[in-house]
Amino acid sequence: MVATLLSLFSRFTTEVMAGNQERTFIMIKPDGVQRGLVGDIIQRFEKRGYKLVAMKFKQFDEAHLKQHYIDLADKPFYPKLCKFMSSGPVVPMVWEGKDVVKMGRAMLGATNPLQSNPGTIRGDFCIDLGRNICHGSDSVDSANKEIALWFDKTELASWSMCTGDNVYE
Ligand code: ADP
Repeated sequence: MVATLLSLFSRFTTEVMAGNQERTFIMIKPDGVQRGLVGDIIQRFEKRGYKLVAMKFKQFDEAHLKQHYIDLADKPFYPKLCKFMSSGPVVPMVWEGKDVVKMGRAMLGATNPLQSNPGTIRGDFCIDLGRNICHGSDSVDSANKEIALWFDKTELASWSMCTGDNVYE
């Protein structure tokens, strides 16, 4: 009986921890880099209380972008999208925190910037669909796949934010 209760408690604690430890993949696209918006986008996630776990600044080849957007391979804009995404350096990142996948998407705004609310990243900085400056995973499953595509496990930093107790109760 005690063992069962302990096991249930441990599973509950792990699930609560897992909730806080959710990770998402956010990428600043070449247009966001060119327009000098890297600092602003990073700052929004930092100020919200999310934890940066990994980040790169690098130009990637078209084959890599084709893999990233493989689910859109049948869309007419797929070749143009992959070409643009490989046209300059991007900033792929991993952010961690409670509900960060859903909140990351909310912070980015709608795919079409003209339908993004002011206050969101796309709603504040963009106009055109093909120049919407950032990408964010749309589910936990996609986040896990995208993180594995863009980062080696050794590139994911394991660290505690000293502000943690003031972000989470
Ligand atoms: P999101 O980036 O919001 O997850 P999608 O995965 O549907 O959106 O599309 C990937 C990217 O492809 C979008 O961010 C946008 O830059 C581009 N895109 C989407 N739809 C179109 C379209 N109809 N025409 C041109 N580009 C598009």
